[in-house]
Amino acid sequence: MKTIFDQFRVLRSFKLRIFIIIILVGMIPSSIMKIGILNNHADAEIDKHISGMESQAKIVVNQLLNYNYLEDTTSEVMNAELNQLSNLYDGRILIIDQNFKIIKDTFDISQGKIMISEEVIRSFKGEEITKHNLAGQYIEVVMPICITEDVEKVNEGNKKNDNSESLIRGVILFSVSTDRILAEEEELQREAEMLGLIMNVIILALALGIAIIILKPFDRVTEAISQVQEGYHDEITNVSDFLETEYIIEAFNQVLGKMNVVDESRKEFVSNVSHELKTPLTSMKVLADSLLAQEEVPNELYREFMVDIADEIDRENKIINDLLSLVKMDKKVANLNIEEININALMELILKRLRPIAVKQEVELIYESLRTVIAEVDEVKLTLAISNLIENGIKYNSDNGWVKVLLDADHQFFTLEISDSGIGISEEAIEHIFERFYRVDKSHSREIGGTGIGLAITRSAVIVHKGSIRVSSVEEEGTTFYVKIPLSYIV
Ligand code: ADP
Repeated sequence: MKTIFDQFRVLRSFKLRIFIIIILVGMIPSSIMKIGILNNHADAEIDKHISGMESQAKIVVNQLLNYNYLEDTTSEVMNAELNQLSNLYDGRILIIDQNFKIIKDTFDISQGKIMISEEVIRSFKGEEITKHNLAGQYIEVVMPICITEDVEKVNEGNKKNDNSESLIRGVILFSVSTDRILAEEEELQREAEMLGLIMNVIILALALGIAIIILKPFDRVTEAISQVQEGYHDEITNVSDFLETEYIIEAFNQVLGKMNVVDESRKEFVSNVSHELKTPLTSMKVLADSLLAQEEVPNELYREFMVDIADEIDRENKIINDLLSLVKMDKKVANLNIEEININALMELILKRLRPIAVKQEVELIYESLRTVIAEVDEVKLTLAISNLIENGIKYNSDNGWVKVLLDADHQFFTLEISDSGIGISEEAIEHIFERFYRVDKSHSREIGGTGIGLAITRSAVIVHKGSIRVSSVEEEGTTFYVKIPLSYIV
């Protein structure tokens, strides 16, 4: 099933994701902050108003008693005070006497009327009530007008019934509309919204800018890679904005380097193969031409030349066969035919096959086995590898020389030491002998039928068995190859 990311490739864009992350990181906190600040501000404003109204009402209550306002409402000072306070809060103050009669209304509307409301009655019982009604959009402070303690003491002698109700001379009702606060809040909200909008636009622009700037080097990397792909350059040189892009480029250049090496070795291989195959052909052409150039060639000469031509054909054949073996060997694990083989028996067989060549070269073949070895190997490939080593020991030997094969094993590997008393290999040459077509002495090797591919085949065969091969040699003394192969084939 295709995911949404597969359907809309743009969603997988790193640039888009960075853009979104910056927007989220920028916008979410600022929005939360805005909402939090605005809400708190509205609540704090209302609380401030309420506590202001309460303390003002208390002051007024004291003044009303001092001016004996409940008995006589003519006090100009008091009236001015009440009007000033109601103006200050943009509210309304009602003073109600013990008979529930409104003796003062700062709006001058309800003076003389009777006011019986739940709050007023409760307040006459001594309660101080503060009501904040959001729906009605007003704040109401209702407070009893009580005689202060001093007044109480003066009155104490005259009053027989001392109950608290008798001390309450009236009630003050101070109401303020919250419209103004709300309007201020709305204004603040509008400003905050405007500011938020500007901030969001800035964040958006920043996010876009940062996403583009941050990813610019990656665009440059892509461009540089395309240039390599199109063949303008062999490697990427100059994209070093970020450490990360530098790593990418380094890794890419390393891959390129490896590819170049592979390409070079492929070219070299092709040119070597062509050269090797051409040599016998050139010889044949020379032989044939020289026959054709002569008239009435004697029969014996014909025979002699034909023998040479047949030798060259044999040689061509050998090179092609070796090449085929090498290619097969390179085809990795899939082509391996692993079986449990008795290595001692296999060694006997290989030596039996090679003995005639050794006899011909007058080289003694010695075989020593320290234990019975059973291992999981590909018989054909291993035979080819070991035969090559022993054959080389015979080929590059001196008169009356010897080649010794020693087989041993531990619980994990079996080892083969193939040593000879031959011509040895120089120090400079030894590191190249496993290369394809490498021969220490070209003409000598050619004389004795070498193609330079034998050791490359041997090395590949050992490696596909997950084994190892090493060599040590002293010129004019001899050479030893050490082969180590696991007893159990490891996939
Ligand atoms: P070739 O077909 O020429 O023998 P190889 O790949 O088998 O090719 O060997 C590469 C070269 O290594 C040989 O040409 C030879 O010079 C050198 N060489 C290999 N084995 C021995 C050995 N046992 N003693 C001396 N030189 C050796």
